[in-house]
Amino acid sequence: MKISAKRNWVILVILLALTPLTLIIKLNNGVGRTDGYKKFLEGNEQDKSQPSYINNISINNISNDSNANTRLDKGVVVLMFHNVKPGTALSPEKFRETLHLLKINHYNPISLATFHSYLEGWGEVPPRAVLFTFDDGYQDNYQYAAPILREFQYPAVVFPVMKWFSPYPRRDVDKSGRPAYQPHLTIAELQDMVKNGWEVGGHSYDGHWLVPVDPEGKERIPFLKGRMWLAGRGRLESENEYEARVWSDIMLMKAQMLELGLPTTDFAFPYGAYNNKLLGMLKQAGFKYFYTTEAGINLPGQELIYRVAVKSDPQETLKAIEKRYLTQKLSALATVSVSR
Ligand SMILES: [Zn+2]
Repeated sequence: MKISAKRNWVILVILLALTPLTLIIKLNNGVGRTDGYKKFLEGNEQDKSQPSYINNISINNISNDSNANTRLDKGVVVLMFHNVKPGTALSPEKFRETLHLLKINHYNPISLATFHSYLEGWGEVPPRAVLFTFDDGYQDNYQYAAPILREFQYPAVVFPVMKWFSPYPRRDVDKSGRPAYQPHLTIAELQDMVKNGWEVGGHSYDGHWLVPVDPEGKERIPFLKGRMWLAGRGRLESENEYEARVWSDIMLMKAQMLELGLPTTDFAFPYGAYNNKLLGMLKQAGFKYFYTTEAGINLPGQELIYRVAVKSDPQETLKAIEKRYLTQKLSALATVSVSR
């Protein structure tokens, strides 16, 4: 009887001790994931864990704060844009409205250099700091986004695919596989943007397409993500062949960037897909900051950068940004309870 009561007591203590751990596991799995890209991250446990920077948060500010709904004013939200043109998800009017809304809500767009210094832990950013990033290097970024950004005097970053400058852009396909031509920037346009304050990161040389992983091509994965099916040889690539293919793409990208006089520290994963091997090779090539498509807030010490996808409705974009600050706080609180 006595032993049984003691055992129950022990079980109760263990359960209590495990409760905060369960909470943080739940938060880690439920927060900051974009479902569409989840499948590309499968099989990579490290990618699924909350980054270690969470432990670096100054938890005093948070634990002294009794109001659970207070917004945390720290960190940088990186916004991810693609096209800005009439007839797409984000028309120039909606783009302007988004910038206006950010402005009247006291958001402060920062430059890439400011972002770097903040991540490295020696630079400050203003409250409500945001960084604008544009993926793929579409011509409309020059035609529509750049003039509007200039009006607001907001800096921005573009991640062009280094082989896709007009007049030789990729052959785009729509959802049904039909060609859907999209004009890309010319090199002269990119250089003009750089002259006007735009900063540039890499988005592969020609690694932004899906490769087959079976003979029929039923399943396809992002070019940089894993081993592809070699039709001529009737087999999957070896791990070495995969690495060699990815490495040559990185080297071609880097050579092109150096030739254009562009820095090589920032890289946006095509489709948001990555693994530790790809990350290691990019670091070996000199890249330091890696932009994912997972939503979250960015703090000093991070190298995997969270981004918030911009919505068609400017109000929804604002809500998505605000959510990142509140999520951050929940994670921090959970960390506090675990460390006790
Ligand atoms: Zn892209």
